[in-house]
Amino acid sequence: MRKPYVRTNEIRLKNSLALKGRKMSDAQKEKLKQAWIIRKQKGLGTAWNKGLRGVQVGYWKGKKRPPPSLATREKMRIAITGKTHSCPSLIGNQHRKGLAPWNKGTKGKQVAWNKGLLGCGSTVPHTEEWNRKISIALSGKNNGSWCGGIAKDPYTFGFNAKLRAKIKNRDGDLCQICSEHKKKMDVHHIDYDKANHAEKNLITLCCSCHIKTNARAKRDFYIKLLSEKVQRL
Ligand SMILES: [Zn+2]
Repeated sequence: MRKPYVRTNEIRLKNSLALKGRKMSDAQKEKLKQAWIIRKQKGLGTAWNKGLRGVQVGYWKGKKRPPPSLATREKMRIAITGKTHSCPSLIGNQHRKGLAPWNKGTKGKQVAWNKGLLGCGSTVPHTEEWNRKISIALSGKNNGSWCGGIAKDPYTFGFNAKLRAKIKNRDGDLCQICSEHKKKMDVHHIDYDKANHAEKNLITLCCSCHIKTNARAKRDFYIKLLSEKVQRL
């Protein structure tokens, strides 16, 4: 028959030491506190470890730890084999000295994990219908960059190719943010008013910088930056 489990003071002490330093959540602390209040009310005596503060000693204190058995040492060796550690003296890569790296000879033979997969790791090609659905799902109000349908406002008469060419010419056909010339160069309205074609309100930007300027949260920043730039042109 199994012996009934008795929590002796020695076991309690061991448990206490094992749990020492463990962080308790506030909820847990509160729960314990309440439990002790109830215990006190019921007159259930004092804590088992009362008065032991500072008297408690570590289980191994003053005793000599027996060395790990051969089996344990073998287990430890296997557990750390191949592992690295931030402290080289603890584990290190010493055992790999003189060994070839894992990827030796694989140059040119490695295949990307997504080779042969179509878009986003999918194994099925996107159908026309699928593409259409995604396009609808991400357009207009469903898109994070939605600014209230302003893109559909026709650029007011006057913002023509001639004016755009003039502005690009003035700016040296370079993006006034990244100073590069790219395949697609845009002329941007600094104050975001598409009816304001004043030359001081127009600036040349590359396609990718132009997209960045249209982010709602960054508008104030770009208005300040670009109006300063345009003054110097
Ligand atoms: Zn740019």
